Amino acid sequence: MTDLPVLAKYPFLKESKNYVKENEISIDELLNDSIYERARLIGIERLDNAFNKRDVGNRALATDYDCIMELLSYPIARMITVCIGDIYFKRSYALSEAVHSYNYLINESTSNLIKISDEFKFNIKYDKNNKKFLIYFTDYLKNAPTRYSQWKMINRVMENGYISLSSKDFTRIIQEALRSRINNELDTRKCSKIINESFKSDIIRLSKLIEKHRKKIEIEPMGSLDENKLPPCMKEILKSIQSGENVPHMGRFAMVAFLNSLKLNTSEILQLFSTAPDFEEEKSRYQVEHISGKTSSTSYTSPGCDKMRSYGICPTEKMDELCKRYRHPLTYYKVKWRNK
Ligand code: SF4
Repeated sequence: MTDLPVLAKYPFLKESKNYVKENEISIDELLNDSIYERARLIGIERLDNAFNKRDVGNRALATDYDCIMELLSYPIARMITVCIGDIYFKRSYALSEAVHSYNYLINESTSNLIKISDEFKFNIKYDKNNKKFLIYFTDYLKNAPTRYSQWKMINRVMENGYISLSSKDFTRIIQEALRSRINNELDTRKCSKIINESFKSDIIRLSKLIEKHRKKIEIEPMGSLDENKLPPCMKEILKSIQSGENVPHMGRFAMVAFLNSLKLNTSEILQLFSTAPDFEEEKSRYQVEHISGKTSSTSYTSPGCDKMRSYGICPTEKMDELCKRYRHPLTYYKVKWRNK
């Protein structure tokens, strides 16, 4: 069996799940037995930290007891998150778990990184001479945060289908793969009645905090933009960016170019994006300033409906009467604005 501290640091590993199975810890014991009270408290702590700090937080892993409690707190936190049910919170929590693992992974040896990455079944090799990880391009494309320019394929070296990565970049790929896995799992699990009952007060407390946070965001001034007048395509893209979903590069580009055409300045655009759980101001600023022509020779304009459709970012099932009448998201917005 893998060491307990490893399982505690990486509770998403199959071995961690097996530990719970092999030790026959029932859900009833986990929720009610006083032996596991610490695990329950840490489970809640993970969620509070995810909400407040974007990292589920470090605790001492000095003894077997510490490690077991840490390990068991992970399924508890996940089950509570499912019961809270809020998409923004699910995304924040998944990101916080992934960031937490990244902070441990970044200090792991090469062999440990390879072992842990086995979990995600990447097609990888290790180039000992150059001390680089080589990842097959399909795995790279699936997991790299390609919304940032340094991750675009064009900025990477590829040989025989494999992309060469530093240890730090490979660790980031694991972070993204983990985040995406947790997101999928949270979206497909159903809230268990027993969890809902056992953690009722914390579920209510956290739901209230999330609601308060949402209201705070909603009443913050948003430049001259009226979100209610956005065409369906921009509404969808903005919603996805704000909830931290993986938006294709063209979607982000179209959104920024659209807001730029409406004369929103960089800070106003960044403010709109800043509610995303994975918001990184410096990187977003770079992208916005590039598209708006502040740091490049071109101020890009937002693509028309034909182009939006060809990029697959026009939600055709949500098109309305104005969509049918006009051929550009900007015209749609301006007509709605004038008609107010
Ligand atoms: S038809 Fe045009 S404005 Fe309407 S959703 Fe599609 S791209 Fe947007």
